[in-house]
Amino acid sequence: MIRAVVFDVDNTLIDFTKFKNASVEAAIDAMIDAGLDLTPQQARKRIDQIYEDRGIEFQQVFDEFLQDVLGHVDYRILANGIIAYRRAREGVLVTYPHTRIALLRLARMGLKLGVVSDAPRLQAWMRLASLGMVNYFDAVVTYDDTGKKKPAPEPFQRALEMLDVEPKEAVMVGDWAERDIVGAKEIGMYTVFARYGDEFGTKRSGADADINDILELIPFVDRLNKNQGPAIRKAEDCVARPMDAQPRPSSANHRTPRA
Ligand SMILES: [Mg+2]
Repeated sequence: MIRAVVFDVDNTLIDFTKFKNASVEAAIDAMIDAGLDLTPQQARKRIDQIYEDRGIEFQQVFDEFLQDVLGHVDYRILANGIIAYRRAREGVLVTYPHTRIALLRLARMGLKLGVVSDAPRLQAWMRLASLGMVNYFDAVVTYDDTGKKKPAPEPFQRALEMLDVEPKEAVMVGDWAERDIVGAKEIGMYTVFARYGDEFGTKRSGADADINDILELIPFVDRLNKNQGPAIRKAEDCVARPMDAQPRPSSANHRTPRA
């Protein structure tokens, strides 16, 4: 009996790549307006390199970028960049289509909902808060809560403890096969691959099912709870076949690789 569904956040509930790209591009334009003498492409390349070296959550990215290209931090340029980044973020930080209705339906089916994110505690909560979603979840586990990142078992186990369910009573949903799927499978959870958020062209997710729309979770859980088997198919058998719905024509296909 499935009693809980646990979600990754970035690129599973929220379109993180779209948010990051739009925010960084707005910041670059604003820094150029404030006197930065680089092309947007040159700036983007340096900033992407910093994210690559320091991690995508690195908060001093523009300080380091300006230090790097100017030899010092120009606060007029920095302030312009940060403000533009924050303004753009408010506009583009959105959930994937049908996320709210899917969460609501799962909750109405009596399922507990949780989140396991590798993002730092504040960033994870800020993203949920800015979307008005902090009350949707019975458990929120961030990187700082266990000090371990997926696929380590600790973050998943912490969420299951908080939800008071066994691994076999829970489904993990995520976009990163090597982290979300591998980690959850290892401890005995059911797994669903959020193919709509896939950034890596993942061929075989290894999950019990791949979905192209978050609403496909409803029939997936239904089938499990009616003992009709783990899924319509094993993910290994074919690539990206949705269970019920048609693949949605999606703006998600136009995203650039993970910044
Ligand atoms: Mg993710």
